[in-house]
Amino acid sequence: MIDQLTCWRDGGNSFTEVSTDSRDVGALNPHIKLDDPETTAALPKSMVKKIKSRVKYVKEGVSRVEEASGLTYPPYYVEPTLLVATSGVEVEQVGALYARVIPVVEPAAGVQIVVQLSAPLVAFGLKGTIEAVLAHEFMHYVELVRKFTSFDLLSDEAAGTLHESLYADYERLYNPKWLYSDKGLVKLIEKKFGDGLVDDKLNQSTVKKWIEKGYPVFKIPPDANVVRIPVASILRTNFDPLLKGRLKELEKISSASANVK
Ligand SMILES: [Zn+2]
Repeated sequence: MIDQLTCWRDGGNSFTEVSTDSRDVGALNPHIKLDDPETTAALPKSMVKKIKSRVKYVKEGVSRVEEASGLTYPPYYVEPTLLVATSGVEVEQVGALYARVIPVVEPAAGVQIVVQLSAPLVAFGLKGTIEAVLAHEFMHYVELVRKFTSFDLLSDEAAGTLHESLYADYERLYNPKWLYSDKGLVKLIEKKFGDGLVDDKLNQSTVKKWIEKGYPVFKIPPDANVVRIPVASILRTNFDPLLKGRLKELEKISSASANVK
């Protein structure tokens, strides 16, 4: 059923409920959704327990990314659902979305960027896969902050709304070597990611142990993948100053390497 694994980033659909209540996403607990009554109703206790026990790999992965980048990981949490993208072209062609980065518009605080992890990744993914995915999502986070803090973009659209959309992997990401000092982590990212995450084992486990068990699957229609972010909200946001400083360095490295080619 799953023939393509894709990393996904967007917002503005029904999975961004974190934004609709007053939860402080800055203090988001990775377990936040695992104790919800809907989760308890939809998943057997053993599965919830398994996911919870494996959140430690997520935490370890986040620490590894933070150490390797010298930066702070954005808030993250486990979504107790398998997110699936339908291509819109072929009904049978779906991609499991194991993680994505979501910009959440908070009326008071501006834009909060949150990493959402699909439960099957946490339940069935190898430690290395989880770490690679976390590191990859962090690169999307960095790119998103770059975009949101880029003066050109804001001056172009100063009066309007930014349309954040679609498959993130079409957009540029910095070379992981520039962002991470941990060579093992860089290798892991290169090994696990082609066009998207490549992990047949995880894929098979997800089909057998999640989809075929009838656990929650949410199909995201292609046209539900655009989020509209008021530029005023972006301007109101205090993005990590350390990251903003690093972005300047990354831009220098990026243009230097472009000149070499
Ligand atoms: Zn990606």
